[in-house]
Amino acid sequence: MNRSLPSETSTDFPRGLDQGLWFVPLGGAGEIGMNLNLFACDGKWLMVDLGVTFGDETIPGLDVVMPDPGFIVERREKLAGLIVTHAHEDHVGAVAYLWPQLRCPVYTTPFCAAFLQHKLKEVGLEDEVPVIVVPLGGRAEVGPFKVDFIQLTHSIPEPNALAIRTKYGTIFHTGDWKFDPNPLVGEATDFAALNALGEEGVLALIGDSTNVFTEGEAGSEADVRDSLTSLFAKYTGRIAVGSFASNVARLESICRAARANGRDVALVGQSLWRIVETARRTGYLAADLTFYEASEAAFLPRDKVLYICTGSQGEGRAALMRIASGQHQDVALEEGDVVVFSSRSIPGNEKAIAKVQNSLAKLGVEVVTAKHFPIHVSGHPARDDLRRMYQTIRPRIAIPVHGEAMHLREHTKLAKECQVPLAIMIENGQAVRFDGTKAKIAGAVWSGRMAWDDGEVVPFASGMLRDRKRMFYEGAAVASVALDEDGNVSGEPQLAVLGISDPLEGERDEGWDWVLTNAVNRLPKKARRDDVVVEEAVRGAVRKAFAPRRKPVVKVHIVRPYD
Ligand SMILES: [Zn+2]
Ligand SMILES: [Zn+2]
Repeated sequence: MNRSLPSETSTDFPRGLDQGLWFVPLGGAGEIGMNLNLFACDGKWLMVDLGVTFGDETIPGLDVVMPDPGFIVERREKLAGLIVTHAHEDHVGAVAYLWPQLRCPVYTTPFCAAFLQHKLKEVGLEDEVPVIVVPLGGRAEVGPFKVDFIQLTHSIPEPNALAIRTKYGTIFHTGDWKFDPNPLVGEATDFAALNALGEEGVLALIGDSTNVFTEGEAGSEADVRDSLTSLFAKYTGRIAVGSFASNVARLESICRAARANGRDVALVGQSLWRIVETARRTGYLAADLTFYEASEAAFLPRDKVLYICTGSQGEGRAALMRIASGQHQDVALEEGDVVVFSSRSIPGNEKAIAKVQNSLAKLGVEVVTAKHFPIHVSGHPARDDLRRMYQTIRPRIAIPVHGEAMHLREHTKLAKECQVPLAIMIENGQAVRFDGTKAKIAGAVWSGRMAWDDGEVVPFASGMLRDRKRMFYEGAAVASVALDEDGNVSGEPQLAVLGISDPLEGERDEGWDWVLTNAVNRLPKKARRDDVVVEEAVRGAVRKAFAPRRKPVVKVHIVRPYD
């Protein structure tokens, strides 16, 4: 696995994890994406959510990034189960990749279960992973945790908050949520359950910080539907709408608004078809809604078609990027057409989104975003929603998650304003120990990132990804040295330089030939028989020639005659 876990003997490692109640996030605390929350009760563990995040621009070529679960993998016999709160990629997206390391039962509600089955099928795990379907508002007993699922509203069907009951008290984990009085698809918030929980008493609330800087309320999906209808009426060319595939209510809103304007809808992007199939199977999509494939819609008149596209976050391989760069085989947009972004930018994606929008502008396509027209409401709580939640639940302790550091800090401030006695700011890997009605950070465990790369999960800390990152910034050099039976250099050693300039270019007397030969000849005769020693000597000489300007990745080939 090529991962160096910090030893349990390190001074920072939390003591006494086998006793009492603990919370340890390995992902999602200090970032928006790749959620992984762990709870321990007397040494038994419960995982809540296991998601992915967008590719990391510091290492090129990685599309799927996820938390490194090494800490819990090491004690997986104590992991009682994984609960997935809802079907968003940042909560469920890593299950298919990481489950083989965890091998625990997975609990979730019907929509997310159906969605997860799709993903498990793609990697051939559909018959291996025990997925336990919990009814809406139901309960799961996972080891020492008795967990009640409570319906909230969000931007996907079946967002569940969890009341995690233990003998040390109840933790309310909000998952992603907002209060939407008219969600259009799915149930409205179960206020009766929230009120009952508040009455009963809650030790800690762990919750969504995404929109803590937004004043007021999150707003309702019903408003978006009206707005889309009047926006579409303004255009006579093709309309394409970028939206999150998983937002089933939004899909329906777009379809209704399209139909009200006499347009047929085509879906562009695989994940849209997957969600439509899942939503149909679980009863979340009205039966009268029909969709065309993009190839079929090419024959519709310009003023009669509307495309719903993936890629509203500027994802490189998604439909919108391919359309914007003129590389989509079925959809071509031109002057007079419009692309509507019925979504918001997730922090960190701004550059990628601007790239798509600029490419569309170059094609002469008009771009409309939520800044111009009220065509998006967020699925996350604004400040008034958060206040109302704290007034209802009245926890002793607040631990904000699902936010970058500045969101978490602001959320701790807001919680204190809401009379929560203790609010804790936490980072991935930090371990919170609960003690009576108090809690504190009592050490840290290993946390990191991994990537799905060519069909396998690779830790960022691995030599392979470290090399890739270094090659990106520092280039690479490959040396080849042939030695004879006696360990003398035979022929001319070669060096290839990739991605950077060659410091010995044009050097006649002391070129690479001389440097590499010298590096070997300086070794004692006996040492030259040892490949490792020769490689190290040659690598050292190559590095020295590049220093101090560059530190390329250096690869050395030693060639010896057959015995
Ligand atoms: Zn989320
Ligand atoms: Zn979500």
